[in-house]
Amino acid sequence: MDSQFAPEEDYNNVVDSYSVTINGFMFCTRHGLEVCDKCPTDNRAANNMVVEDSLKERFTEDEYNTKWKGDEREPITVAHKWVRVGKGKPGCMAHKEVACKECFDWGEQLYRGVHGGRKPRVSRLKNKKEKTHDERIE
Ligand SMILES: [Zn+2]
Ligand SMILES: [Zn+2]
Repeated sequence: MDSQFAPEEDYNNVVDSYSVTINGFMFCTRHGLEVCDKCPTDNRAANNMVVEDSLKERFTEDEYNTKWKGDEREPITVAHKWVRVGKGKPGCMAHKEVACKECFDWGEQLYRGVHGGRKPRVSRLKNKKEKTHDERIE
């Protein structure tokens, strides 16, 4: 009788009094911080494990080696971005959606933080360095 909803516990999205887990990333419940010196907690290492494999595939070798700071990276915050929604699950403030792909796509967020939204400007830099055509005249 209890199983009529066939509840399958989603451990990637849970909240208790100490920590809230959203899409597999943990934050302190009280402040919504990934790194909090009041609680105190530092979830970066654990959270990175969730996404690091896929990030490693997406980064260029250079990005991974020089720009990806791993467990020393800038912490993510979900302060004022999550609320308890149906069944006490943590969801996003914007859409009231558990495991919202738009608000809580950590892999994408971290990827963009390193990779940036900019397109490479190789061609422009190249043009700058190119000699004027005068010099080609013999
Ligand atoms: Zn805290
Ligand atoms: Zn959302």
